[in-house]
Amino acid sequence: MSEFAFELALCAHLESGDGPVSGDGIVARQLGASVADPGGRILDVVYVEPGPAFDDRAAITSDAIPDAAIESTVGPGRWRYWKSAFDCHPDRARRATDRALEVGFFESRPRNGREYVRQVARYPDWYGRLVGIENKPDLGRPGDLEAQLRTDVSLALVDEIVLATESYVTRAHLNRIPEEVGVWRVHRDDSGDDGAATALEIEVVREPTPLTVDDPGIEPLASHPARTEVAVVDADEKARKRRRIAERAYGKGWRTYGLPDCVQCDPDDSSGATLPWCAWAGRIVDAGSECGPSCPGYDPATTPEADLEAERDRRTPWVAEPSGKQRRQSGLDRFG
Ligand code: SF4
Repeated sequence: MSEFAFELALCAHLESGDGPVSGDGIVARQLGASVADPGGRILDVVYVEPGPAFDDRAAITSDAIPDAAIESTVGPGRWRYWKSAFDCHPDRARRATDRALEVGFFESRPRNGREYVRQVARYPDWYGRLVGIENKPDLGRPGDLEAQLRTDVSLALVDEIVLATESYVTRAHLNRIPEEVGVWRVHRDDSGDDGAATALEIEVVREPTPLTVDDPGIEPLASHPARTEVAVVDADEKARKRRRIAERAYGKGWRTYGLPDCVQCDPDDSSGATLPWCAWAGRIVDAGSECGPSCPGYDPATTPEADLEAERDRRTPWVAEPSGKQRRQSGLDRFG
């Protein structure tokens, strides 16, 4: 199974609530999880547990709320001149203001030729624990696995980090990765017809140990023969990054793939999520990188219809069209 197919099947399974995490939270994939070296570490899958005010967050917007807007002194009460509410470069402040208006976190009104803004609702305490999952279907081809997991443990940005694999996990494997890392072995049921290919079961080989997210973390940057360059990331920076991860996860989710415009594509929804199954290849395919005229099995067709956003709305606590948003839109229409 390719890493891509493994990742989608795992996300669908976690979302179903039949896996080791409850399905009450947000599953997302491919999220940045480093601070000093942005983009230096990408987590394959993140599971965000709901916090006490999850519903309040869902009621604001279906999109990610920009961090600068949350950090600003714009609140839900008094109208503020946008420029004086940010402690950052005016260009960044403007971008954050525009985006916050676009997604419906801010509302605005003109006064004396200036634009004043306020939050539509106070930013809620909406997320709990963050679980990071590193996918390595085949431990025989580990790549940078050990270094990545060591980074996750020493930076401790997520509450728990887990390795998910299809391989049989030996004592030697366990000894090579930090003891805080949990290990899931994923079993696939290939016995049935096409759809059964995504039926998974997860065996918890080792439970993760909670990481110290409230303390400063150490982020390894570069390795040299005799030394490793590191950055110390303080607790406040980590808290901000955790919020960005949660927001990004909320806005993005994991259905960020396309379906192939090919006769052979026979979307598999046996898991309750629509996955890009190819009958010719006999597996889930990545339309973006595998499909098209260069594939020997390609037979052009109309892209199968699937509303992945509606599916996410139906199957998860994420809300595609929160009522607050609808109210604002009808409010805008009045002045349109
Ligand atoms: S282009 Fe190839 S891999 Fe993609 S759906 Fe068609 S046959 Fe399958």
